[in-house]
Amino acid sequence: MSKILVVEDEAAIAELERDYLELNGYEVVIADNGNDGLKLVKEGGFDLFILDLMLPGMDGFDLCRAIRSECDAPVLMVSAKKDEIDKIHGLGLGADDYITKPFSPSELVARVKAHLARYERLTGGNVRETSSVLEVRGIRVDKSSRKVWVNDEERILTGKEFDMLVFFMENPNVVFTKDELFRKIWSMDSVGDIATVTVHIQKLREKIELDSSKPQYIETIWGVGYRFTV
Ligand code: CA
Repeated sequence: MSKILVVEDEAAIAELERDYLELNGYEVVIADNGNDGLKLVKEGGFDLFILDLMLPGMDGFDLCRAIRSECDAPVLMVSAKKDEIDKIHGLGLGADDYITKPFSPSELVARVKAHLARYERLTGGNVRETSSVLEVRGIRVDKSSRKVWVNDEERILTGKEFDMLVFFMENPNVVFTKDELFRKIWSMDSVGDIATVTVHIQKLREKIELDSSKPQYIETIWGVGYRFTV
């Protein structure tokens, strides 16, 4: 669950923001002044910040700067005055969005969702990269070490055989023509022609199929091409 810090000195607004965000599945913590806000920022653990500009103690400008020195999580600035918003732009504080009061709670929620989704895409990319193992019906492929096992027995594949197997496993049950496979797997370094595809399919079958004349994984779709069946 994403955790949001709202720094707002007007209790009615802070509570309205909290209620709508909680309704949409977010966890919300409220600070009613800048100094308490900063303490919470330093404790960490927040995925997004909503800051009012005019606050007792440290104001929204300085708080935004302090957040930027701690983390990259999205910051939404809220202000009652349009000219204050212009000032924030001018200062280049690194806030991600600006909302003018009064705003509709659903608009706030929509913006929070959009910023969290973008932030998760940016930070989540690495996590997905590390899970580099593909597994389909007894075939296991480790993309980072470029190793392949069939029923726990390692098989040694050439570079292009490996690329082809990964391509098939990542696109299961889709029929590809030889021409498409050639373009996808050989792309720009194309030495040879689409006959190369037939040769590689045959070699790959010998390495992964129990009986390469009756393939269980890489099926031939007569007159069309090949399909990796799951
Ligand atoms: Ca205020």
